[in-house]
Amino acid sequence: MSEITLGIIGGGQLGSMLAIAAKKLNVKIVVFCDDLDAPAQNFCNHFIVGSYNNSEKILEFINQVDLVTYEFENIPFETLNEINKLKTVLPKPSINRLIQHRLAEKDFVNKLNIRTTRYVSIEKKSDIDALEDFLPGILKTTTLGYDGKGQFPINSINELDKLNLDFSKGYILEKLVKLKKEISIILTRFGNNKYEIYEPIENTHEDQILKYSKIPAEINEKVLSQSKEWGMLIAEELKYIGTLCVEFFIDRNDNLYVNEIAPRVHNSGHLTINAFNISQFENHIRAVCGLEQIPLKKISNAKMINLIGDQITHYRNIKQFNDNEFFFDYLKKEIKEKRKMGHITTLV
Ligand code: ADP
Ligand code: MG
Repeated sequence: MSEITLGIIGGGQLGSMLAIAAKKLNVKIVVFCDDLDAPAQNFCNHFIVGSYNNSEKILEFINQVDLVTYEFENIPFETLNEINKLKTVLPKPSINRLIQHRLAEKDFVNKLNIRTTRYVSIEKKSDIDALEDFLPGILKTTTLGYDGKGQFPINSINELDKLNLDFSKGYILEKLVKLKKEISIILTRFGNNKYEIYEPIENTHEDQILKYSKIPAEINEKVLSQSKEWGMLIAEELKYIGTLCVEFFIDRNDNLYVNEIAPRVHNSGHLTINAFNISQFENHIRAVCGLEQIPLKKISNAKMINLIGDQITHYRNIKQFNDNEFFFDYLKKEIKEKRKMGHITTLV
């Protein structure tokens, strides 16, 4: 029986699902979060509230855990780095710093000879003039974006000019890919060339927020093998430990592009809870805690629907679900527009 106590930074739905998986493995969980209402407090052994740069509270957290992981990437690098001096942080803080920054992330991926969208950095007003080549495009803040936040579709230089960007922040302009499909690869790396890798998951976004995921993804053999290869190449290069997600675009000519990397468990992998013997969450806990690696087995095809904003209300009122349906309510106190409130996975 393990006696490990794992600290998780961040207390959203991903933290909740990690805590649920940890319980099964007899790993104790302490969650640290800046939100008093964080849903993961319902599932962990101990919950600490504090801002991500409150060193006193962070120290209280560190003292209670053997090692630390995180459920989202927008944590100050300094915080992860300071924690790492006292207790191991996995994935390594340097990985988080790289992936937090859209430009650094894309430069890294391109250096591995992996295709990304075409992109350009925008740091000052005069950079805007020479951008015709990247239009139509999507302008994104280089840091702190998620679920489409901090993103603007741009069709003309004029539109870009009119935005009156605040240049105390950095931006990246990405050429729009004419999407045929989006897929993600979720894998867990346990050590050198030691992987558990899930089959590609097909994802549909609405308003830049993930809405549907399903397996199997309807893709050709080449895209299937290339996405897995690229996922593993990225993880191997980072010497990553834990569960990692790579989001991909597929264009109308079946070219594959890396969109972005998430150094954590991922929304598109919720269906792994019901569709595989070991979920992405359990695999993450196993890898970071150095527990046994168990070969993945698929149980069923599956599809997942994200319940966003008040879509949750209908499901909260359903008394009984079918045997192949699994409803998860994140227990968020407030229903907000565009907020992920829960999901339902159906085995098919
Ligand atoms: P986030 O960090 O918010 O997930 P993403 O960069 O993954 O940001 O963008 C969210 C979604 O917006 C993508 O999954 C895709 O549907 C759409 N999108 C973003 N960038 C592009 C692009 N360059 N071309 C086409 N679609 C895009
Ligand atoms: Mg994304």
